[in-house]
Amino acid sequence: MKKLIIASNNKNKIKEIKEILDGLNIDVISLKEAGIDIEVEETGDTFIENAYIKALEIFKLFKEDNYMVLADDSGLSVEALGGQPGIYSARFAGEHGNDKKNNEKLLNMMKDVENRKGKFICAMVLIIDENNTIKVQGEVEGVIGYEEKGIHGFGYDPLFCYPEYNMTFGEMEGNLKNNISHRRRALNELEKKIKEYFQGE
Ligand code: IMP
Repeated sequence: MKKLIIASNNKNKIKEIKEILDGLNIDVISLKEAGIDIEVEETGDTFIENAYIKALEIFKLFKEDNYMVLADDSGLSVEALGGQPGIYSARFAGEHGNDKKNNEKLLNMMKDVENRKGKFICAMVLIIDENNTIKVQGEVEGVIGYEEKGIHGFGYDPLFCYPEYNMTFGEMEGNLKNNISHRRRALNELEKKIKEYFQGE
């Protein structure tokens, strides 16, 4: 059976990925289950580059064991801000993962801005072996609000309004966000490519 390590400790991401790979006869484990606790420095200029850097670092650790590695990187890109916060989404206000400060900073920068268009982007890279890598990206377009709305989700969700449903990601309950999100779209693309690859083997 093929083995795959997900370069993440995020339970939701791992669950989603396991569900999608179900039926492909792949043994999927998290970083934690693989016994690794490392912080890979994200030195790339794009989401894809950062996901690849993460995947490769972990792939190298497990090369002899023939593990495939899947890594992702995501963030928010705002049109009027030239794509910011972009790859710096998690540490936009300086402190890694401080959602409150990041949202405050974004709201301040958008105070007098009319064009509110933004999109979430999620890149995923799967290293199958030394010669085969699959890279995909999923995006979801929305509008940046003028105040935080909703208590669900994380990060920029309370500021990210999805016009089709006229609510922010932060206002979405249950699986609503997960069915339309950038992560979902990247996973759909990945699923297609994985199936093509393994069926063609
Ligand atoms: P990571 O790829 O999980 O490290 O996410 C990077 C950062 O992008 C997060 O800390 C959030 O600030 C932002 N981000 C990524 N995906 C989402 C999302 O689905 N909702 C809100 N913020 C997100």
